[in-house]
Amino acid sequence: MKDSPEKIPVEEWAPAEVAELDLYEKREKIYTRKIEGFYQKLRQYSGWPLLLGYFCIPWLQWDDRQAVLFDLVNRKFYIFGLTIWPQDVSLLGLILILAAFGLFLVTSLFGRVWCGYTCPQTVWTAIFMWVEQKVEGTRNQRIKLDKAPWSVNKFARKFSKHAAWLLVAFGTGFTFVGYFTPVYDLGWQVYSFSMPLTPLSWVVFFTLATYINAGWMREQVCKYMCPYARFQSVMFDADTLIVSYNAKRGEPRGSRKRADDHAELDLGDCIDCKMCVQVCPTGIDIRNGLQYECIACALCVDACDSIMEKMNYPKGLISYTSERALASSDSNQETAHFLRPKVFVYAGVLCVMLAVFAYRFTSIESVELGVIRDRQAVNTATTSGVVENRYLIKVANKQEIAREFELAIESTSGAALKIVGAAQLAVLPGEVTSFRVRVQAAEEDVPSLVVPIEFVLTEKGEQYRHEARFVKAQR
Ligand code: SF4
Ligand code: SF4
Repeated sequence: MKDSPEKIPVEEWAPAEVAELDLYEKREKIYTRKIEGFYQKLRQYSGWPLLLGYFCIPWLQWDDRQAVLFDLVNRKFYIFGLTIWPQDVSLLGLILILAAFGLFLVTSLFGRVWCGYTCPQTVWTAIFMWVEQKVEGTRNQRIKLDKAPWSVNKFARKFSKHAAWLLVAFGTGFTFVGYFTPVYDLGWQVYSFSMPLTPLSWVVFFTLATYINAGWMREQVCKYMCPYARFQSVMFDADTLIVSYNAKRGEPRGSRKRADDHAELDLGDCIDCKMCVQVCPTGIDIRNGLQYECIACALCVDACDSIMEKMNYPKGLISYTSERALASSDSNQETAHFLRPKVFVYAGVLCVMLAVFAYRFTSIESVELGVIRDRQAVNTATTSGVVENRYLIKVANKQEIAREFELAIESTSGAALKIVGAAQLAVLPGEVTSFRVRVQAAEEDVPSLVVPIEFVLTEKGEQYRHEARFVKAQR
């Protein structure tokens, strides 16, 4: 029999202290203070047209159809008078490349203005914060409410806030789906509670995504999820506009009375009021230097300017500036240098892409003609010495009106070919119609085994061509 192992008391093998390591940073809830000022007006003036556009565009009509509709089911994108078919999808790729280079150019010139002024995450978070302020009150009132025990008042306020958020989120999700599904039908389906499962699940998905992103996650999206926040720094250089605190002027910081002469107190212009921190939607202190969390919304600029005004100090302790200007001995005199090699490269590529896009856009044909030779019935020779080939002709009418075309055949080899049967092709608006066509020629009129031919569609003098082959029968 084996000896049983010796038991070691737990206190001898367990370490005296077990350190707990948390891999995730604890999130501090941010209570932003409302602030008004020049840059906030700018944000409102730039945000409102974008919001109005987003919510109104799906409801606009154009030629008896939705003006902007990305019809994924029928694989057609309608953008006002333009219909993008699958054949033209490279145009969408070009639009994306144009948008990317536009963003590179703007970022290298003006820093993260996209993040601060037009990014949907910023705009929707601002709307949700506005709702929060209306329902729960000012920053101090919100902090007090969160600390207070649950009561009827607290429940009513929280319930109203979340209900309002969900309403905004639903409007956002519904509108987004309305860009992909006829929005008037969607509206009726909501009204009559008859929405099919597919659009319903997308509306629910985008509603929840908006509610969670703008209501709960907010700055976390910018800090941890947005890829642009990670790579935008490669577009930055010493002349890119950034929001920055002028430490040379502000330090040493310290509180004082308005009447005090801060030079005598050996203090800089920063009164350490922390207003710039309290208004910041990402909760950072810009006085600690440029941080990747900063979305360049300039709320801290407005906050600090309002304090400088009250203190009778010059504005601009926090301002839009550049690293070069900050490093210069007189940062107030140094201005940003906009004409730089990087800017020229981005602008050059953007111009080239614009030219390519314009060329592709203007060369979109309103008709797509496709020809497939019927290989099963190839080079059928009839007993009377006539050779016949059959073709499948596909005509895509990219316009929103019914059209009629005349089909003809041409051959450079001199072969006398003729289309048997009616050569008038009627195609409904926005439809692709296939026609079976028989082409015949006397055997002696076909000079070689394979003859290049061209099908020609004619409509009001306008011609659309497609090459094909006519194969001579072999006995
Ligand atoms: S708002 Fe201006 S004065 Fe107040 S702490 Fe910030 S930088 Fe200093
Ligand atoms: S530091 Fe200023 S500019 Fe940057 S996110 Fe905060 S408030 Fe906006």
